[in-house]
Amino acid sequence: MKDQVCKMEVKEGSKFKSSYKGMMYYFCSAACKQSFERDPGKYAKA
Ligand SMILES: [Zn+2]
Repeated sequence: MKDQVCKMEVKEGSKFKSSYKGMMYYFCSAACKQSFERDPGKYAKA
């Protein structure tokens, strides 16, 4: 499972997570989560 914002490896079950188009995305930090939520289309996998 990768943090799609910074490309770091993160554990599934991280407390920093966000769902987008039915997929759950995990992040290493609140900052990455916020970046994703600001512009999810930029980071989400196609
Ligand atoms: Zn990150």
